[in-house]
Amino acid sequence: MKRSMVRTRFAPSPTGLLHVGGLRTALFNFLFAKNQGGQFILRIEDTDQKRFLEGATENLIKTLQDFRLFPDEGPDLNSKFGPYIQSERLGIYKKYSEQLLAEDKAYYEESEAGRAVRFKMKKTGVSQMEDLVRGELRFNNDLQKDPILLKSDGFPVYNFANVIDDYSMEITHVIRGEEFLSSAPIYAQLYEAFGWQKPKFVHLPLILDRERKKLSKRAGDVAVEQYVKKGYLKEALLNFIALLGWNPKTTREIFGLEDLIEEFSLEKVNKSGAIFDITKLDFINREWQKKLQIPLQDDRLFARACELLKERLGENFSRPLFELIWPQVLERIAGPSDLEEKLPEFYFYFALPGYSADLLIWKNTSKEKIKSNLQLLRDWLQQASLAKYDAKRLEEKIKATLAERGVGTGEALWPLRVSLSGQKNSPSPFEIIAVFAQFEETEIFSRLDRAIDKLSA
Ligand code: GLU
Repeated sequence: MKRSMVRTRFAPSPTGLLHVGGLRTALFNFLFAKNQGGQFILRIEDTDQKRFLEGATENLIKTLQDFRLFPDEGPDLNSKFGPYIQSERLGIYKKYSEQLLAEDKAYYEESEAGRAVRFKMKKTGVSQMEDLVRGELRFNNDLQKDPILLKSDGFPVYNFANVIDDYSMEITHVIRGEEFLSSAPIYAQLYEAFGWQKPKFVHLPLILDRERKKLSKRAGDVAVEQYVKKGYLKEALLNFIALLGWNPKTTREIFGLEDLIEEFSLEKVNKSGAIFDITKLDFINREWQKKLQIPLQDDRLFARACELLKERLGENFSRPLFELIWPQVLERIAGPSDLEEKLPEFYFYFALPGYSADLLIWKNTSKEKIKSNLQLLRDWLQQASLAKYDAKRLEEKIKATLAERGVGTGEALWPLRVSLSGQKNSPSPFEIIAVFAQFEETEIFSRLDRAIDKLSA
C-alpha cells in the first residue's frame, strides 16, 4: 500500500564537510516534511568510491544532529550506520538494472572500460517533470545521450541509485539544489521507463556571493563547521540559512527551528539566486546572542576571542581582564566575521604600546598645559573611589571637575585617553578607567605617570 504521507530526504554524498548549501537542502527537506506532518529521511549516497572521504559520513550525521535536524529514518551514529547507505544496497540497483536489461530499456556496453550498463534514453518527444517552484519542466529528448547506470565494478552511478532509492523509499518530494536540473531529463526518463509515478521536485535557487557569483568552495568559508568555529550560534546559522531562498513574506527575520517548521511553505521558495550576505548573518547572530543570553563560559564567540588573543599576546593575556573588556568588544564588532580584524584594537589593555610624546598633544596646546591637565586628572582619580563608578558616571564626574577648573575637554581628555591606550583610536578614557578600576587600579596611575614622564623629558 502506498503511503499518503509526505516523505522527503536529504541525500548527501560523503565527500567532505557539510557545506552551507548542503545544510540548506537538509533544512528545507526537514522543514517541509515536519510542516506537513510527514517524515524526513537521511540517505548516504556513497557509490562514488573515488570521491568517498573517510569520516565524512560520521561528520554529516553529527552536523545534522547538532542542528537538531533529526531524521525519522536513516543512519545514526549509535547503530553504525544502519539503513540507507547506498554502498550496502548494491543488490537492489543490480536487480533494477536487470529489469531494464530484460525489457530492452538498457544494454551492456562492450568496451575496453568493461561491462557497464547503459540506459537507452528515448530520443524523440519530450520528457517532463513537475517542479513546485518552477512549474512544469519539459526537456527535448532528441538532445539526450545514453547515460551509464551501472559501472563495470557493479556500483551504480549516482543518478541511477538516486532514482531507485527515491522510489523504493517512497519519497514524495525531492528537494535539491538547482545544480541537479541538468540531470532532470535522466530522472524523468528513468521513472517513465519503470512506469513509476514521479515524485514532486523542487530545485532550490543557487547561493550567490555578494558579487552574485556562485558561492564557491575555493572561496573558503563554505563549510558549516567553519562558521561554528568562528563563533556563530547554531540558532543564528540555521535562521540565516533558512532565509537563503525562502521568503517568509513578513518583516520578521528571527526564526527558531520550531517557528520555521510552523511557517515554512514551498510556495515561498524563490527561483532567483539567494545572496549570502555576511552582514545579515552577523545581524541575525547578534539578535540570537541577545535572545539566548548565553553565560560567558559557554559563549563560543568569547572563547574564540580568548583563543586568538592568547595566540597573539602569550603571557600578557589575562582572561579576567578580558571579561571586563568583552562588552566593549561586542559594541565595536559587527559579529564573528570581523572579530579577528578588530581584536588588535584591544591589545593595549594587556600591554601598553610604545608611543611618542607628540601623540599626547591636543591641537596647539602646550606641552606644559597638557602635563598639568594630566596631573590634575591624576590627582582627582587618586582621591575618587573609582571602583564605585561605571564609565558613564565617571564621564559625568570628570567632565564636571574639568568645568569647575575651567579646563577644556579636548586638552584634558585627549591626553588622558592616549596615556591609557598609547594609541590614536581607542575606547573612551572613561571606559578604560572603568575596566582597570575593576581589575587593577594601579595600572591607571602607572600609565599616567609614564605619560607625565614623557612630557617632562
Ligand atoms: N548525492 C547527491 C549530492 O550529494 C544528492 C543530490 C540529491 O539528489 O538531492 O549532491
